[in-house]
Amino acid sequence: MRRNVTLCFFLWATWTTAQPVVLKTSTMLDGQSHVLKNKSIVIEDGKIVRISGAGEKTTYDLSGLTVMPGWIDTHVHFAVHFNSNNRLESGGAGSKEAPELSALYAAAGAYATLMGGFTTIQSVGAEVDGPVRDLINSGQLAGPRVITSLRAIHDTTGTPEQIRAFVRKAKADGADVIKLFATASIRDGGAQTMSDDQIRAACGEATAAGLRSVVHAHASSGARAAVLAGCTSIEHGVFLDDETLKLMAEHGVYFDPNFLVLHNYLENKPKFLGIDNYTEEGFAYMEKAIPMMSDVLKRAMAQHVKIVLGTDAVAGSHGRNAEEFIYRVRDGGQPPMDAIVSATSLAAEALRLGDKIGSIMPGMAADIVAVDGDPLKDITAVRRVAFVMKNGRVYKNMPPGALK
Ligand SMILES: [Zn+2]
Repeated sequence: MRRNVTLCFFLWATWTTAQPVVLKTSTMLDGQSHVLKNKSIVIEDGKIVRISGAGEKTTYDLSGLTVMPGWIDTHVHFAVHFNSNNRLESGGAGSKEAPELSALYAAAGAYATLMGGFTTIQSVGAEVDGPVRDLINSGQLAGPRVITSLRAIHDTTGTPEQIRAFVRKAKADGADVIKLFATASIRDGGAQTMSDDQIRAACGEATAAGLRSVVHAHASSGARAAVLAGCTSIEHGVFLDDETLKLMAEHGVYFDPNFLVLHNYLENKPKFLGIDNYTEEGFAYMEKAIPMMSDVLKRAMAQHVKIVLGTDAVAGSHGRNAEEFIYRVRDGGQPPMDAIVSATSLAAEALRLGDKIGSIMPGMAADIVAVDGDPLKDITAVRRVAFVMKNGRVYKNMPPGALK
């Protein structure tokens, strides 16, 4: 009995004397549009417990950097990579690549994304996402928090009843979100492909299962049907008209226009050309889509649509996700603070994780990124990620000046 009491006291003493981790900052963006000066972030057990003015014993001095909540990318495909022949490879069913190699590429894609400052990603999606997510969550792999659809619904998935069954099976298999293709790829012209009935089945069943539904849509007709069916986010949206954007704003549907993916395809054209719909015609469509993306982003801002940051990162983009900030600010005219909020508190809200991540405030997970420079004055500072913390654990801590 006496021994037990001693042991209990020892455990209590050890637990209560665990030292908090303190990040000293000179400039902090809290993810909710505020700039805070000369504060310390106090972290215990992976969570932010307080924001303090002074008097804390500093663990990491991030003075001189701009400190933000860990970024969130709401649309990635981290398993898609270039293979040893420098050609596009998605892995999975039908691939000639060895499955163990595909799995390692997927883990590498997730790791690169974390090192690029993104502590949470939504992948839409591949089967390998599930085990990578689970190994990251159990601390066996280094990577961002992963949310995944595992698979996607197309017009060929079947009848509305078959689509409903597909949604239920995806949820049973561990999908966190449902992804559907309401329209064709931009490389195939982007017209509506799924019928309104199919879209209603996908979005309706997702809602019934308590899942969000994220919709690939270029044509307004497909996006409109998805909004009216209760889907939660529209991706890409090159051809969206003002009426559809207005409807999205009214329904609180998030919009995720993506620039990086188009630039990435064009910059890496030889690695994609000749595979599936990566044809000369497909590339011509993508080239035309870039200025249209700027235009739709400007019109979406005018309609007060909730715009989140997603990149549609595929092969060639993992770790460069932050380029999306630069395209949106430079080409889309988005104010830098709005772009940062779109990748922090607003993206977290879109993922229904707004009470856990995306803001620097007490109670939130200690997901922190710091960049060398002031992204509010020069958005290219997002390329210089000096510090990455996820759940209170440091994954990157560059010495001062190393990124200059
Ligand atoms: Zn995508």
